[in-house]
Amino acid sequence: MITTDLQGILEDAAAHLYVWALMDIPQDLRDALVDASERETSVPGRRVLSTILRNVQIADDQKNLVCQDTGIAVYTCRVGEHFPLHPTRIYAALKAGTERANWEFIPEWDGLDVKCVPKGSGSENMSFLKMCIPADGVKGIKQFVLESIVGAGGKPCPPGIVGVGIGGSADYAMYLAKEAIARPIGTKNPDPHVAKLEEELYALLNETGIGPMGLGGDVTVLQCHVEHADTHMTLNPVAVNYQCWAARRASAHITVDGVVDYDREA
Ligand code: SF4
Repeated sequence: MITTDLQGILEDAAAHLYVWALMDIPQDLRDALVDASERETSVPGRRVLSTILRNVQIADDQKNLVCQDTGIAVYTCRVGEHFPLHPTRIYAALKAGTERANWEFIPEWDGLDVKCVPKGSGSENMSFLKMCIPADGVKGIKQFVLESIVGAGGKPCPPGIVGVGIGGSADYAMYLAKEAIARPIGTKNPDPHVAKLEEELYALLNETGIGPMGLGGDVTVLQCHVEHADTHMTLNPVAVNYQCWAARRASAHITVDGVVDYDREA
């Protein structure tokens, strides 16, 4: 009988994802950084963005890391109900490269998706949570996001992706914010009300003048993503999580037969 070593295959995939994410940033991020360098009008901001682009090119040419801060490896897993490897074995396989795993269990599916998102410490340190009250409304949410990003200044290595999580509980709101920073640049929340909030926050945050690396300029954020969940009628938790300009991510889909499909765009 031939058996597939799914745990070994997953372990190799996790190791590959981490190194791949650290060395080769996704195309949507590359495009956003080029776009930012063309939009930026401040001299220090243009200089920072040109240094960032040169840094990315050198990493490509020399097969080196995009940033010296390898961050913490955050893995997000979507596990099919019929995927034949118990979560404890999945966790063991990820452990070598993982500090933390987020799980989502999918009924009537036999696959496994793993996404690796290395989080630089500079940006992870700029994480904020506020338990707003419902009366604060959307205005209160905007105010908190704005205050958080203004307070963070140049510390999270801007321009990056601002993730906002709204709803659920305190911990779930932060989980949503982290989901938000892991979305490709250019994607919108499928809910038109939330997509509108993403656009408004993006415009608002770029009016702050913080600019690349906090040196002043037009481009403070490359994108603002919002994820939301239902919550209790007396709650309104809002979490902000920042992903720096080195917004690295890499994904793999693993089938029940152990076939690994690496995906740059997910
Ligand atoms: S760019 Fe990101 S990974 Fe690099 S030092 Fe800044 S926060 Fe850390």
